Amino acid sequence: MTVRTPLIAGNWKMNGSTQRTQQLISSLCSGVADDDDRIMLLCPPYPYLHIAAEALKSKAIMLGAQNIAMEPDSGAYTGEVSGLMLKNFGCEYVIVGHSERRALYGETNEVVSNKFIIAQAQGLQPILCVGETLEERELGQTQAVVRRQIQKVIDSAGSAAFSSAVIAYEPVWAIGTGLTATPDQAQETHSFIRSLISEQDATIASLVQIIYGGSMKSENAKELLSMDDVDGGLVGGASLNAEEFLAIFQAA
Ligand code: PEP
Repeated sequence: MTVRTPLIAGNWKMNGSTQRTQQLISSLCSGVADDDDRIMLLCPPYPYLHIAAEALKSKAIMLGAQNIAMEPDSGAYTGEVSGLMLKNFGCEYVIVGHSERRALYGETNEVVSNKFIIAQAQGLQPILCVGETLEERELGQTQAVVRRQIQKVIDSAGSAAFSSAVIAYEPVWAIGTGLTATPDQAQETHSFIRSLISEQDATIASLVQIIYGGSMKSENAKELLSMDDVDGGLVGGASLNAEEFLAIFQAA
């Protein structure tokens, strides 16, 4: 049986302050051992990356960003932050294709796939978010939607790219709503995603971490994380509370 390292990632979204970042990180550090066999990852807003990087120096917790510019290196792209800059700040991961970016900022599968490619080119592991809306689920289109979202990346980056990437299944109807996919619903889609990668490369499919996101909390984490193809969580709201987030981490 393949053992995949559990990954618990906190997406702070547009929340926090200098003080809150320091407090949250210092509370989290006490709950993560240097030799922990799970990975904890924090994705604070850009302005707090520097503070977070300082606070996490020589700690086992990893740092990531919530977004990346589609353009390489540097240039006349007002308001954008490049992968090179994120690396410079100590980021190892970056979230691409979060449903809020798709819905609120018009990011298409093509934009997401470009961001995925640029992230890897700059040495960052993309966390590719995919998932269906409630309407799509009710119409029985979950697998078709997820297939399209992943296929675009396979077509552009190749399936080998998934040897250094993470996939997050995040049903849009479960994000920030308090509604969570049942463990069986999560497992069904996670296993479908793994089978999509497996159509291209069975070894990469068996190794790629597929994490679940959508109202994960301490009270539902254990059940979700016990499913065969659920390798961790992408946690929004609950990652802003150290006690909650640590309880989720410990459930992994
Ligand atoms: C998210 O934004 O990635 C997320 C999963 O949010 P929440 O946990 O708040 O549903």
